[in-house]
Amino acid sequence: MILNVSGNINRYYVQTLCMVFFPGATFGADEEVRDGVPVMNVDVSSDPGGESVTAYVSIRLNDKLCEATETVRLDEEITIATHESIAVGRAVFAAGKALLGHTPPWGILTGVRPGKVAGGILASGKGVLKTKRVLRDEYFLTPQKAALAVSVATSEMKLAKKLEKNSCSLYISIPFCPSRCAYCSFVSYTTKRLLSMIDDYLDKLLCDLESTLSMIKELGMTVSTVYIGGGTPTILSPEQLDRLFLKLEEYINPAELLEFTLEGGRPDTITAEKLRVAKEHGVTRVSVNPQTLSDQLLSEIGRHHTVEQFYQAYNIARESGIRDINVDLIAGLPGDDFKNFSETIDKIIELAPTNITVHTFSVKKASDALRKNSGVYSITGGDAAKSVSYAQIKTKFAGYKPYYMYRQKNTVGNLENVGFSVDGHEGLYNVFMMEEVQTIFSVGAGAVTKLVKCDEPFVSKSEITRLFHPKYPYEYLRMTDEDKKAEREEIFKFFGKE
Ligand code: SF4
Repeated sequence: MILNVSGNINRYYVQTLCMVFFPGATFGADEEVRDGVPVMNVDVSSDPGGESVTAYVSIRLNDKLCEATETVRLDEEITIATHESIAVGRAVFAAGKALLGHTPPWGILTGVRPGKVAGGILASGKGVLKTKRVLRDEYFLTPQKAALAVSVATSEMKLAKKLEKNSCSLYISIPFCPSRCAYCSFVSYTTKRLLSMIDDYLDKLLCDLESTLSMIKELGMTVSTVYIGGGTPTILSPEQLDRLFLKLEEYINPAELLEFTLEGGRPDTITAEKLRVAKEHGVTRVSVNPQTLSDQLLSEIGRHHTVEQFYQAYNIARESGIRDINVDLIAGLPGDDFKNFSETIDKIIELAPTNITVHTFSVKKASDALRKNSGVYSITGGDAAKSVSYAQIKTKFAGYKPYYMYRQKNTVGNLENVGFSVDGHEGLYNVFMMEEVQTIFSVGAGAVTKLVKCDEPFVSKSEITRLFHPKYPYEYLRMTDEDKKAEREEIFKFFGKE
């Protein structure tokens, strides 16, 4: 796509707006004007009297040209964004709609965390109805998406109240999987040679865990939730899991945690022995993720497990006595359709897990062939949009509430990922991490420590610093004491404890 921007507006923001109408667009400087390549011109200016800002947008695609001009008065109350960004958003929205005949369900709300936007508006004193109105009028959300954002925000604000001062959460990364899913965008080792690294990785991880937990203690913080994620953490043997849990128990009493999650993930790695060990060490939440209940689709997306194996793993999880079970599904998988997805969600609801998470298919690093077949470049979302709506309605009638949500780039139909929960069983780590209301310390390859200072969740603005760990396990194994020391200094500096 060719994008020309002039005036006081952030170019990156305009690019994210472009992607609402042109999913997958790239903005290379060498792009040439030709058929099929959209050209967008954006200009923002203030009026000479300083009373308003005006955005002009034109979009040309092949022979069709659509233009829009939007003026926003500076005395118009804008709740979250700037007057310039609202003027540009509205003009892009109007021109894009006229050009493509499509009304994006999330309007011009482009960020990762719609719940945080809705929560900010609620926290400013506007009630539920006014907040929905702001989302519809300022950001052009459909009434359904505005209601979803407000419902998630209301739940998140309630859950954030569980946080104690000086608490943090801990993420432990196990970036290994039994095989690679065709759409995977994570760094996860899957070949036999790389999987042989697990023992060395675990040794390093336990040292890292030890120094991180003792630092948390020195900082005077308490750990409220622990999340062991991946990859596929249940790729570890019962003995390896036991070593990991024992190291944690040297510093943490699992009975004092608000939540302790072991993301099983792939059903083919879950055994009764592993979950017995997990339960004994205080795990309260486990994920068993089929993504779909179609054997054909599972094989097409390289999951290497069957629907039958999912049911076996789910029963093992149930019989383990672990309090909460989460089931992850993906709407809009390449080759999936509404009929299959709706049957899948119906069958999952029959199992009555406490958590169901519905992601929308997103491809980042997958092959071009998979991208083209995925519908990820469809602005309407087709069957995925119907599937997502169906999941939201069916879970509601089955007694679940949406409690956490995020959006990613390059998802089919620009749709959302939503966690649904039975009341009182929400995945707290997901909320604390996503809404940036608490520091998350991370250990392991590819993990990111997110330092957060936040006086009052959703009310005050958080101060955030991210510390990235080596991406690949082989790099992580080379991490030196000096690297760890530098990270520690940065953490102490952030908290004013140099
Ligand atoms: S289970 Fe998850 S991390 Fe592992 S290969 Fe599949 S998508 Fe990637």
